[in-house]
Amino acid sequence: MTDTPVLIVGGGPAGSALAIELGWRGVPCTVLEQGDGTVDHPRLGIILSRTMEFARRWGIADRIYNCGFNNDYELNVVYCTSMAGHLLGRDENPSCNAMQPPPQSPVKRQRCPQMWFNPILEKAAREYDTVDFKHFHRLESFEDRGDHVLATCLNTQTGETVRIRTQYMVGCDGAASGVRSQLGIDMLGKPVLSYSMNIFIRAPGLAALHDKGEAERYIFVRPGGTWANLTVVDGRDLWRITIIGNETMMNLEEFDAQSVVRQCMGTDDIEFEIISSIPWRRTELTAEHFRKGRVFLAGDAAHTMSPTGGHGMSTGVADAADLGWKLDAILNGWGTDGLLDAYEIERRPIAAMVAAASAENFRAWTSVPDSDRVLDVGPEGDACRRAVGEHMKRAGRADWDSLGLQLGYRYDDSPLCVADGTPVPPLDVLDYQQTARPGSRAPHAWLEDGRSTLDLFGRGFTLMRFCSTVPVSPLIDAAQEQNVPLTLVDIANEDIASLYERKLVLVRPDGFVAWRDDALPTDAPSLIEIVRGAHVHATA
Ligand SMILES: Cc1cc2nc3c(=O)[nH]c(=O)nc-3n(C[C@H](O)[C@H](O)[C@H](O)COP(=O)(O)OP(=O)(O)OC[C@H]3O[C@@H](n4cnc5c(N)ncnc54)[C@H](O)[C@@H]3O)c2cc1C
Repeated sequence: MTDTPVLIVGGGPAGSALAIELGWRGVPCTVLEQGDGTVDHPRLGIILSRTMEFARRWGIADRIYNCGFNNDYELNVVYCTSMAGHLLGRDENPSCNAMQPPPQSPVKRQRCPQMWFNPILEKAAREYDTVDFKHFHRLESFEDRGDHVLATCLNTQTGETVRIRTQYMVGCDGAASGVRSQLGIDMLGKPVLSYSMNIFIRAPGLAALHDKGEAERYIFVRPGGTWANLTVVDGRDLWRITIIGNETMMNLEEFDAQSVVRQCMGTDDIEFEIISSIPWRRTELTAEHFRKGRVFLAGDAAHTMSPTGGHGMSTGVADAADLGWKLDAILNGWGTDGLLDAYEIERRPIAAMVAAASAENFRAWTSVPDSDRVLDVGPEGDACRRAVGEHMKRAGRADWDSLGLQLGYRYDDSPLCVADGTPVPPLDVLDYQQTARPGSRAPHAWLEDGRSTLDLFGRGFTLMRFCSTVPVSPLIDAAQEQNVPLTLVDIANEDIASLYERKLVLVRPDGFVAWRDDALPTDAPSLIEIVRGAHVHATA
């Protein structure tokens, strides 16, 4: 029998991110991963801006930028009938090297295939002495005993049964989560958007063997509509084909991967080797609850979504960042159990919203109006190709260009944030307007010393003061009284002051605004009570 404050089940991106977040905060944890940490078949490849912001906080952004992806490879999107077939349209996007961070963030997104991304996260987690990361350990069952959880797992190498007692357990065990099943929590939403198939291939020198130019993704349209795509994996020889499929399960016995790859290439002259093929189900599902007692769900265990938009893993990493500071608060004695209830209240609506936006992207991709003449020779074929290309470029925009969703998700109704009476701004997927309205990610701006405002946030609360004469001691005293970590930061910069719009802004450890005003409330201790979760009433 061993003891650990937090037991994380699953060492994929969500589990590793939570281990890093806890390690970074000095909270000991144990990760159980049934595999050996290697990824044979990369699914994810796009690391969106919010995940890169967390990576910057953890000090590992450069590891992801320098993961080995060919950063000179251009990340355009090409719509075509096949690699050797007709070009229908293209969206121009720069390479990772040529890309600049958007003005609203200190970081830019990056391509990093999962076979490199998972090990980067796992290595970062292992660098904390407080993180015990166990391979070949499979959770078999658990029992929530009210004041602790008792987990039973199997060391699959030795056959030994290991029992672990923990304060809190987090199921980061993926879409087929056994933790979720044992808790009896249902997934709500759409269980099938399509039955899809991935084919992971090696095609040496492919980029030089066609006339479509470099692209992150080639989307194939044929008479009948969009049917497959080819996605860059390492920017060199590795690629992934995804067959979009439909709501009918594929007959895997009749499935001929070689023939599918040839159809995508549109020629027999391109050589390739099939590394692996896996069937998967595209869904839009959110767990009915993210918490039951002392057990939580995060990542794909809590929500699954169409990969159109590249939001799946990033949504799980954001779960980890939200839950991490709350577990830290409660284990260090300054948070209340209400903080843990607020995890579901904050994260569940965001997961459902991002899953819905991803499903919308999928519908947009597959809603080609009429592509029956797309292969025809002559003016009617040309007109069809033009119409399909124009439609795809319009329809695909939110898939490639979603900063409003990546950085603009907000905890508007959080019981940990105090509304300031300003109207709720619309959430525009494409266009991200930074706001310091409570419930929002605190805006990025560059400080005189070269840091981002985001670099100010992290281990505790940050009270930003834009006018040094405004009294703040009652809030600082109230925080001290409850052992709530709070740092006062004076900022004498008019541009940043106008971006934050109030003289005082209280930012949570996860970089979200909890409260703002031009002066402290008369009852400063009650503000501290709110942000440490004392007034949260569970809905579960
Ligand atoms: C084709 C495709 C492309 C995608 N592209 C992107 C993208 O570009 N960007 C993006 O953000 N997302 C993308 N996604 C989504 C992304 O892959 C997932 O959201 C992400 O992998 C989920 O991470 P996770 O850690 O929650 O779960 P997983 O990656 O599934 O990891 C779960 C881990 O738990 C372990 N485990 C399970 N049960 C147990 C047990 N009982 N005991 C111990 N260990 C256990 C498993 O071995 C596994 O390692 C894509 C998905 C698909 C299908």
